[in-house]
Amino acid sequence: MSDVRVRFAPSPTGFVHIGSLRTALYNYLFSKHNNGKYILRIEDTDRTRFVEGALENLIDSMEWAGITHDEGVFIENGKVIQKGEYGPYIQSERLDIYKKYLDILLEKGHAYYCFCSKERLDKVREEQKSAGKIPRYDGYCRSLDKKEAETRISNGEEYVIRLKLPESEDIVFNDLVRGKVTINTSDMDDQVLMKSDGFPTYHFAVVVDDHLMKISHIVRGEEWLPSTPKHVFMFNAFGWEAPTYVHLPTVLNKDKKKLSKRQGDVSVTDFKEKGYLPQALNNYLALVGWSPESNEEIFNMDELEKEFSFDRVSKTGGVFDIDKLNWINGQYVREGSLDKITDLAIPFLKEAGYIDDEDVENRYEWIKTLVSTVKEDLSNLSEIKEKANIYFNYNVDLEDEDVMNMLKGDQVQSLLDAFKEELNQIDEIDEEFSKTIIKKIQKKTGVKGKNLFMPIRAMLTGSLHGPEMVNIILVLGKQNILTRIQYVENNILNN
Ligand code: GLU
Repeated sequence: MSDVRVRFAPSPTGFVHIGSLRTALYNYLFSKHNNGKYILRIEDTDRTRFVEGALENLIDSMEWAGITHDEGVFIENGKVIQKGEYGPYIQSERLDIYKKYLDILLEKGHAYYCFCSKERLDKVREEQKSAGKIPRYDGYCRSLDKKEAETRISNGEEYVIRLKLPESEDIVFNDLVRGKVTINTSDMDDQVLMKSDGFPTYHFAVVVDDHLMKISHIVRGEEWLPSTPKHVFMFNAFGWEAPTYVHLPTVLNKDKKKLSKRQGDVSVTDFKEKGYLPQALNNYLALVGWSPESNEEIFNMDELEKEFSFDRVSKTGGVFDIDKLNWINGQYVREGSLDKITDLAIPFLKEAGYIDDEDVENRYEWIKTLVSTVKEDLSNLSEIKEKANIYFNYNVDLEDEDVMNMLKGDQVQSLLDAFKEELNQIDEIDEEFSKTIIKKIQKKTGVKGKNLFMPIRAMLTGSLHGPEMVNIILVLGKQNILTRIQYVENNILNN
């Protein structure tokens, strides 16, 4: 395919929804697959919904996810900048351009001035509703004389500009996911194109921009499907070729409803803060609505770029399944290099108060051992706070009755005595110590196998299963182990 140009065009109205990240990802993958360009445009013409900081959060989220754009709006050294030959890429900076194209539509008779007050529009809407009709503009100003309208404007009357749709005409377009879509203008509304505040609506700005920015494919959520006929009508009215449309199925929750904030984490920031890896999140999101040819589920970005195509995007909503995301993320945590996962885990360990900057500087190897000890069990990195808790908490929390019984065994006291004796000969546990201690205890006590390992593990962790004992001993350290031994002596053996 030649000259593929796609865009992700969010409105800065708050946090980035995980569904938006998927839209961005599909745009990105499609552009990469076709050697095209991926553009980030900011659609901020609805001034009532503008949220301070949303642009920064958006760019930050995309950067974190590694979904990088070629053209459009960027932040460099804390400053918003724009790159590319079709700018500006922020709609509020393109008002003159919209004005020029609105004049063309007015001139061609495809748009008209409307002076209806909010009160009148509300009244019409109420009447239509109580008559069981779908509320829409009743066309009151459609045939106003243009000269007369201009006089009213120069007298300072408030107005909007509306699209003038023909009475009963089929609008037809092709969607790569939906196939052929036909809608009759009698089921459509004379959309407002410019509001009384002088800003264009999204519907007008999007058409002008997609044309001027030479967008080849419009890839967006299916909530925009009902608006597309209006856009297609405008492309036709201008005499422009409309881009190819691709409407993506909505990301749903398990109850098949739109995934919303009320059900928990939905923003990219939420997932970032929980310690999901961006590669895993992308991998998972790619599968929400798209299926690869093989049964494979783990894909890195390069593989996704190669495999991705719109013919395998489904028409029906993709269900966001947190368990599956956790499973995929767990794979990336286990497969990730220990250095990388350690670096990603450090902020969470700090947050839990387990380590500080000094530890990071002086005991990095020890932190790595800690991470390697628990990493098998993590589905996201924030879980390390809970999973590593036993290494920083001096209480022995026994998992169940079996652990208690194990610690009550006949030979336990002699095992603990041997352990203490060895500990008392050193300042701190090192690798050598942790690798040889069990053997030494065995030699001293003559206890072997399960009777040796299980009580020691139970004393160290309060559980009968878990990570490698060598690591556990190294991570716990001398003082913590001595405290645990004492706890078992006081509360279990001599009780
Ligand atoms: N600004 C719209 C949004 O916030 C973009 C719709 C489109 O891609 O055309 O979702």
